Amino acid sequence: MTRHFNFCAGPAALPTVVLERAQQEMLDYQGHGLSVMEMSHRSSEYVAIAEKAEADLRSLLAVPDNYRILFTQGGATQQFAAVPYNLLGNGGTGNYFETGIWGKKAIKEARHLFGAAHVAASSVDSGNTEIPREEAIQLSEDAAFLHITTNETIGGLAFDYTPCAVRPDGVEIPLVADMSSDILSGPLDVSRYGVIYAGAQKNIGPAGLVLVIVRDDLLDRARSDMPTLFSYRELAEAGSMINTPATYSWYLAGLVFEWLRQDIGGLEAMAAINARKAAKLYATIDASKLFSNPVAERNRSRMNVPFVLADDRLDADFLREADEAGLLNLKGHRSVGGMRASLYNAVPEEAVDALVTFMNDFEQRRG
Ligand SMILES: *Cc1c(COP(=O)(O)O)cnc(C)c1O
Repeated sequence: MTRHFNFCAGPAALPTVVLERAQQEMLDYQGHGLSVMEMSHRSSEYVAIAEKAEADLRSLLAVPDNYRILFTQGGATQQFAAVPYNLLGNGGTGNYFETGIWGKKAIKEARHLFGAAHVAASSVDSGNTEIPREEAIQLSEDAAFLHITTNETIGGLAFDYTPCAVRPDGVEIPLVADMSSDILSGPLDVSRYGVIYAGAQKNIGPAGLVLVIVRDDLLDRARSDMPTLFSYRELAEAGSMINTPATYSWYLAGLVFEWLRQDIGGLEAMAAINARKAAKLYATIDASKLFSNPVAERNRSRMNVPFVLADDRLDADFLREADEAGLLNLKGHRSVGGMRASLYNAVPEEAVDALVTFMNDFEQRRG
């Protein structure tokens, strides 16, 4: 058996030791005589798994006590609707950073459901290569929240600061962040946010699970006309078990949290590894005449590194040879073309070393 290096943007690589542990526990979970997939979500065995996962996540991110953690479903995409449903109960308009494809989709959904969404800052003029600075934010007078995408997974564009969300009348509004592709990549000050959400399949676990971290005073701002399953309050009160949760994805996420705590040594240590990985790849790109990345240095993502070849006729050969070298899923998103290497937590430093060696060799032969 060979596990290749997987640079997929999502569903993405999982730590091999986590998969091995899941394999060991697959048929007979800790002597209970059945697999986690086959357990009732109400059983004491499963509730223990769920609670341990939450406790480990709380400790990893140092989540303050006045925040609830929800383990829900529907992808990050469902949160594009759930956020305004949960936060526009007292009226007002959602305010958004437009920084790339995911930010745009969140705006589109808010407009579709509620007729309005205000773009408070946009990186469109820079071709989504630079995040607008904090001074450029223009909140609407009726802003109810400010939504950002901390890491645009397709453009490889990441925030280098946490915006302050204060309306022209001086009222501070909750900051909402889609952290689908960079949560757990390093330490985070949760207290700066009202709502954080993230689909699992990038940096948390398998697809099918979405994490929401919400400050408890915001549970009172929901519209009454929303589907029950969207409701942060209902989810919080039911321990994320209004209905059957994504039990196996939740269990596997728990194993990933344990891996981050025990094997990696926490998020400071993870951040240092991620910084080294990204630095190696950007250094290779910047030293090359064949490869380039357009993103402003301060906003370069450590998780998703898009790059293009100077001659796109070489793209197909690059991808084929990379595949043959055991470097998988380097094709860029269909909307932008080129290449993209996703360097999530579970992508080991050796994968980046192998990629860099391959890129240098390819340039020498074909550049
Ligand atoms: C992948 C991704 C999404 C969409 O996630 P789904 O789970 O497929 O709905 C949204 N936002 C960001 C930043 C992403 O990376």
